[in-house]
Amino acid sequence: MSTSLPKTDHNKKRVIFCDFDGTITENDNIIAIVRQFNPPGWEAIVNDIVGQRKSISEGVGQLFHLLPAAGRKEVVDFAISNARIRAGFSELLAYSRSHDIEFFVTSGGIDFFVYPLLAPFGIAEDHIYCNGSDFSGERIEITWPHPCDEHCSNSCGMCKPTIIRRFPAEAYTRILIGDSVTDFEGAKLADVVFARSHLITKCTELGLPYYEFETFHDVIAQLKREEGLH
Ligand SMILES: [Mg+2]
Ligand SMILES: [Zn+2]
Repeated sequence: MSTSLPKTDHNKKRVIFCDFDGTITENDNIIAIVRQFNPPGWEAIVNDIVGQRKSISEGVGQLFHLLPAAGRKEVVDFAISNARIRAGFSELLAYSRSHDIEFFVTSGGIDFFVYPLLAPFGIAEDHIYCNGSDFSGERIEITWPHPCDEHCSNSCGMCKPTIIRRFPAEAYTRILIGDSVTDFEGAKLADVVFARSHLITKCTELGLPYYEFETFHDVIAQLKREEGLH
């Protein structure tokens, strides 16, 4: 944990923005898919995305464009059977419901694996943000129903800052949970950050305070500690 964390303001409603790949699921599903089907050139694209030399939307679009749309069933089946949900996720959802915390999934992942993997958890569809997909052409096309607003020039694909900005800091304590490159911009804006993996490195680099987590039980424990400060 880093120092000087912001105090939770108990007059504000809490809202959680939770990443999907590498956060709700233990591994990154996009990486798992391209590694499994192994089309030539995928590694350089992934390195450019993680190294922020290529925007997320450009890079993710290019990665899926390497895969033929005719392989839809294999890709979807692999993604769904390969993913494992991180421990404590249902408990965090239950905790959020019982403590009047709004819970959004803000994912840079793709609809064909995000929705099926979340189906058992009863999250309202309008509380799940992710990218779309189109298998009607020769190659898999990613579609971007939630692009950056005029305040973000990052070409996020699914733009987390754009979603977070709909919840003004005066009225909400904005809590971001994430692990990697799709969370960097959102972390700058959020009031509280729960981080693992690359997001820890980024927060340290930027001097942003964060709580480290490994399972969602860690997140619940910290939220409970803040409840106790009433
Ligand atoms: Mg992630
Ligand atoms: Zn953006």
